[in-house]
Amino acid sequence: MTGNLIIISSPSGGGKGTLIKEILASVPDIGYSVSLTTRPQRTGEIDGRDYHFVSRDEFETFRVDGGFLEYAEVHGNFYGTSRSQTEKMTSDGKDVILEIDVQGAQWVLKRQPEAVSIFILPPSFEALTHRLTARATETPEQLSLRLRNSFGEVMQYTEFEYVVINDEVTAASQRLESIILGERQKRVRQTEVIQGILSSFDVTKHQASGEDN
Ligand code: 5GP
Repeated sequence: MTGNLIIISSPSGGGKGTLIKEILASVPDIGYSVSLTTRPQRTGEIDGRDYHFVSRDEFETFRVDGGFLEYAEVHGNFYGTSRSQTEKMTSDGKDVILEIDVQGAQWVLKRQPEAVSIFILPPSFEALTHRLTARATETPEQLSLRLRNSFGEVMQYTEFEYVVINDEVTAASQRLESIILGERQKRVRQTEVIQGILSSFDVTKHQASGEDN
């Protein structure tokens, strides 16, 4: 059985990174798609774990070679999802989390409408501003650009099937987990397993062996 593509988007500072860490630790058979980006590496980030940090030229070569499932320019930098990495994980039967922006989400959903789409909404603009400021990873200019962009980003919530309000980390990650686990119970996601079980309900076989009571 192939795994689900789980798209998770939110404005910068929406807290999706923390929620995703919780999910990766608590949900079995799930992986994380490590994007390529031209954004400079932040202190504490690890190349290959948080992102594959690449030059603009490397990004462009990867794009021309058809390596991206999707890519977008976000807050002045390029970000993209590796097609082969996600296909490998889903074909191994694992769900894969794509932590991507709203443009990337729309692109993936257009081509793969069966993907699960989840929007993480901060409880207020004030909470978002507070989180982003406290994180202290951006210059003042980048911070104000990200806050300005958040107005347009939150309006895009209607493109998503699910919305998780990130008011409190434990509660929000439980809600996120329940969506991911619930999606696995869909009938269409279990066709092969169900067929295997149904084959044991072969009336003729059981009548023949006298097990028909
Ligand atoms: P950050 O610079 O804070 O790590 O990420 C900025 C934004 O880029 C976030 O909204 C994040 O979800 C988005 N992003 C990260 N990786 C990708 C990707 O591969 N594709 C797209 N479209 N957006 C991404």
